[in-house]
Amino acid sequence: MRFVHWSLSIDPDNGEPAYAAACVTCDDASGPSADKRAPELWCLRHAGRTGHTGFRATITSHFRATPLEGPRPP
Ligand SMILES: [Zn+2]
Repeated sequence: MRFVHWSLSIDPDNGEPAYAAACVTCDDASGPSADKRAPELWCLRHAGRTGHTGFRATITSHFRATPLEGPRPP
């Protein structure tokens, strides 16, 4: 049996992080954006339109696990 160590890094093939926000009162959501200011602006507009003031912010990134070559460190 061979032991392999793995390294985890941001996956360059899956683009930039996606920023999004959702209202915790009515579950309306901004949709994902590469620009974090877009969901922030959506929150302010949503608050002005509905009076809802609580939001859930998410940032989605992708990782890629890569096997490390060479002998297992002690
Ligand atoms: Zn709302």
